[in-house]
Amino acid sequence: MTPLEAKIRRQIELEGPITLAEYWATCLFDQQHGYYTTRVPIGAAGDFTTAPEISQMFGEMLAAWWLATSRQNNIAPALVEIGPGRGTLMADILRTLGKLDPALKHSLPVHMVEVSPRLTAVQKEKLEGSGFQIHWHKTIATLPNSHMGIVANELFDAIPARPFIKHEGSWYESTICVSEGGSFRLTAKPAKIDLSILPATQEGEPDGTVFEYAPAREALMQDIGHHIRRHGGFGVFIDYGHAEPGFGDTLQAMQNHAYANVLEKPGEADITSHVDFQSLQRAAKASDLLVSNVITQGDFLNRLGIAERAQSLSKSQPQLRNTLETAIDRLVSPKQMGSLFKVLGVSHPDMTLPALQMAG
Ligand code: SAH
Repeated sequence: MTPLEAKIRRQIELEGPITLAEYWATCLFDQQHGYYTTRVPIGAAGDFTTAPEISQMFGEMLAAWWLATSRQNNIAPALVEIGPGRGTLMADILRTLGKLDPALKHSLPVHMVEVSPRLTAVQKEKLEGSGFQIHWHKTIATLPNSHMGIVANELFDAIPARPFIKHEGSWYESTICVSEGGSFRLTAKPAKIDLSILPATQEGEPDGTVFEYAPAREALMQDIGHHIRRHGGFGVFIDYGHAEPGFGDTLQAMQNHAYANVLEKPGEADITSHVDFQSLQRAAKASDLLVSNVITQGDFLNRLGIAERAQSLSKSQPQLRNTLETAIDRLVSPKQMGSLFKVLGVSHPDMTLPALQMAG
């Protein structure tokens, strides 16, 4: 039995079943044995691959968007990334910004917000020679009081949600207990929720319907919103999920690039679920920010000119042509990441965002 499994069992023995959200948080972020605490999960040698790990063009597009947003609004924000993984996206953004505007190397404050000490160390090593001044934070609470231009890729999907399930006409929250055979098993307890958070069609939904409520994701978005509202700036958030709220079980665990059982080997697999972008929009609006319409990653990257970038790269390095074509396909094609992944922009009310339409 792994130390984390033993720890969770002890907790269940003492307190009774724990919520799935608590289990999820412990699996990923336990300060001793959590998945993100102990591992470097991202990339070919890890458990899952993210857009910046597929191609440098992803970071180049975001860098161009970030600079265009700052210039269009005549502000000089600090650059902030939340949940930077192996630091690949920031490395690509900084290289691109340094080319587009070399003066930024001396003037641009860069802030990384990362909960995992292990990943923080990986990021520091990766960005050591970037030439930029970079500061690390464990939470957004310590970010300085200045304009911020925030980027985050696949941050919200890892933040635990609270799945609710309909049973005999009532809603129950998913919990975890230990079965007689000794393994973890899903159970449920009557949900203490305000039914108004559920989509309006909930009454007609059959037993077994799942709704993944994610208050921790909304709380993080609201905190980000408060910061931007008070000090100015903007943010762009990319993740996999849906633009409209809906019902359905999207909880998944990934290990070695394959699906794993969420209840087996806690702490050894990544656990995620689809992000409800409307709830993030609602949270940002509650902080009095403007929010964009939610568009697909494919549309966003196409608007920013990723095809042209690939063409110019393959002109100067013809040997990379196939690699670039494959990368574009993975990032943009609706059959791959292009449609499932979505983009949301948020900003202080006195700003506009390129390539995104503000929502009504
Ligand atoms: N953005 C990276 C990594 C995505 S994995 C990429 O695209 O490759 C999720 C990242 O978010 C990890 O670095 C994880 O440690 C971090 N993370 C999760 N919850 C966080 C939180 N509340 N605050 C800051 N970082 C967080």
